[in-house]
Amino acid sequence: MKWRGKRQSGNIEDRRGMSNKGRVAIGGGAIGIIILLFQIFGGDTGRQLAPVLEQLNQQTQVQQTAESRKLTQEEKEIGQFVDVILTSTDEVWTKIFRKYELGVYQKPTLVLFSQSTQSACGGASAATGPFYCPADRKLYIDMDFFKKLRTDFGAKGGDFAVAYVIAHEVGHHVQTLLGTSQKVHKAQQNSRSEAEANRYSVALELQADFYSGLWAHYSKDYLEVNRGDIEEAMDAARAVGDDAIQKRMQGHIVPDSFTHGSSKQRMKWFMKGFQTGDLRQHDTFSEEL
Ligand SMILES: [Zn+2]
Repeated sequence: MKWRGKRQSGNIEDRRGMSNKGRVAIGGGAIGIIILLFQIFGGDTGRQLAPVLEQLNQQTQVQQTAESRKLTQEEKEIGQFVDVILTSTDEVWTKIFRKYELGVYQKPTLVLFSQSTQSACGGASAATGPFYCPADRKLYIDMDFFKKLRTDFGAKGGDFAVAYVIAHEVGHHVQTLLGTSQKVHKAQQNSRSEAEANRYSVALELQADFYSGLWAHYSKDYLEVNRGDIEEAMDAARAVGDDAIQKRMQGHIVPDSFTHGSSKQRMKWFMKGFQTGDLRQHDTFSEEL
């Protein structure tokens, strides 16, 4: 893929190298923490501040050990790359929402962080892996995860593997905008067993893979995506399949406990989105439940 020189206008919130700010504020005592919170949350009321304050206190240890530093050239480039990908998802989904008369696409924000940070859905770290938080409509990504994808998950990696993951998280944002996530969570609460609740989770995840494939379909000419890139995405989808992870972690596979789908399912749905480019094919629920 060719991403250099392409449009960058995504909503990126770069929190990398921000640890010094947190350390000084925490060192400054309670008032410092409140000032920091006002900076982060734009002056919330005291009532809303209380629980956040607790979370931040638990984090003090992590933040105190972190060194503040300037971003390296490589990190700056990663920031530009992530911006190009997010911007391309903004453009693709704006078009799709218009085409299928789904209203105006509300663009998400992507938070880049190192080590750890807070989200409206709780704490985030490299161990959490990339995720989307519907409460603040932000994607959280620690680039160290992609090193893990290579070392721990045995994926080949590469820039298109990262793009696939970003587009998958944007897929969860789309599911929130369309109300799919909310419906699924309600169905999970009413489900009779954990296995049934897990199947809903799998269908939701596979749909996010389909949406990622859909993004790849619409941006392939613009980003000059080649066959090797698609293989990279497929390889990442394989590596994060539940069966591949379970096999590596515990040596055996328990399909009832799957929450994201098998390698085969994840590759299948990414490919379906990529090949068809048709939003109406997105019903993973009737096919996989
Ligand atoms: Zn997901």
